[in-house]
Amino acid sequence: MRIPIRIRLTAVYCSAFLVVIAILAVGTYASVRAAVHTIVDHELNSRLDGVDDHLTRHVQRLGWPELSKSLALHPAFHPGLLRIADAGGAVLFEGTSIRGSSGGRNGGTPAFETISHGDQRLRVLGVRRTIQGQTYDLTLGTDLLIPGAILDRLWLVMLLSIPAVLLAASWAGYWISGRALEPVSAIIAAARSIDSTKLNERIAVPNTGDEIQQLAATTNGMLDRIEDGVRHIRQFTADASHELRTPVAIIRAAAEVTLLNRSANERTYRDALQRILHESEQSSKLLEDLLSLARADSGAERLEHEAVDLRTSVTAACARIMPLARTRGLAVKIPPHQSALWVDANEGQLRRLWLILLDNGLKNTPAGGSIQVATGTTQDGRPFCEVIDTGVGIPSEHLSRIFQRFYRVDKARVRSERGAGLGLAIAFEIATLHDAVIDVQSEPDRGASFRVTFPRRHAVVMAHVS
Ligand code: ADP
Repeated sequence: MRIPIRIRLTAVYCSAFLVVIAILAVGTYASVRAAVHTIVDHELNSRLDGVDDHLTRHVQRLGWPELSKSLALHPAFHPGLLRIADAGGAVLFEGTSIRGSSGGRNGGTPAFETISHGDQRLRVLGVRRTIQGQTYDLTLGTDLLIPGAILDRLWLVMLLSIPAVLLAASWAGYWISGRALEPVSAIIAAARSIDSTKLNERIAVPNTGDEIQQLAATTNGMLDRIEDGVRHIRQFTADASHELRTPVAIIRAAAEVTLLNRSANERTYRDALQRILHESEQSSKLLEDLLSLARADSGAERLEHEAVDLRTSVTAACARIMPLARTRGLAVKIPPHQSALWVDANEGQLRRLWLILLDNGLKNTPAGGSIQVATGTTQDGRPFCEVIDTGVGIPSEHLSRIFQRFYRVDKARVRSERGAGLGLAIAFEIATLHDAVIDVQSEPDRGASFRVTFPRRHAVVMAHVS
């Protein structure tokens, strides 16, 4: 069974309160009781001194029958609660209220005790004194009726007030925890009302400087990130649909125009099919790119890593673009034979990364230019590979955005020459999957240079792989 936090807080609060109040009540009662006994005992001692003094002065002069009478006439001695016996135990004087009680017969050791006598409770002091050469056992008592009544009343008041105080404490605890949890309830209500259509809404952050403020601010931070993620996904979907719509429209138009052309001959059909084939290929590539980005986003892609020689990998990619580069009048410069530079990577993905960078170099470098690759190790021992071209370059205001999905620098460029703006985004994801950093340096008309730097721990020492 789930008990609401408010009830649990109240229960804990009340339990703690009950323990404290019980300790306080017992402590107070014990202290008052001890104080009452101290007062009573003090009064008994004073009376003892008075009786002692009286006996000292009159015991020899008056003799016991007279002395008993004089004692009985002194109310300050409380004669009803006074007993005097000689050393042999013979009672010389005994008040009516103490007669027959057991207290005070202690063989001479002075002692206080509380006894029950009939329906009375007595506090009794028993002392042995030697007066004028004679030994007497003196017993003085005090009726505890009034102090007992005071203590009983105190106990009763406490017993009755504990439930009342506890009730008040429960109510206060319930109210305080309700007040403390109010902002949490508000956050829950606000969070519940935010769905995918209202992702821009935020929870009000109370300026309390406590955990509640932190919770609201953290929840808002989380909503910021979710909103950002959803906006990216929506943008990605919109851009992808837009990119796919164009080739589909071209394919459809090519087919329709050709079919409507009554005088179409074999050449016309061939041209149309060529266009359709070209657009289909473009679409397939686009779909492949979208798929690989979606896979990277899902985080499900687990790459098999192995020791890969950066130089062999990039040289193989260069060899693949060489024929196309030649037809475009571009030189591809591969570094002369150098020793291998091993990294821990996925060979297929690395090859793809180089092809994207080399392909961009091809697309953006006019005839007569060159594309060069360079590999090496940074001063702090990180392996890197660089693709440098002498092409049109990238204006500085675009540099920070070219790795974004669907971002293209020159949107007016003829369609056959431009891609969908996904190449560098995929290159970025591949680099990220390898914990590598990809960065660019470029100036308009002075070419561009893309460098991929691997972390040091990805550098594989030759001995490990040979
Ligand atoms: P695309 O597939 O359209 O080439 P990319 O993501 O690969 O898209 O590149 C994004 C943009 O960056 C391109 O529109 C292009 O203008 C610019 N770009 C990329 N590489 C180079 C380069 N080597 N030289 C000049 N511009 C480049």
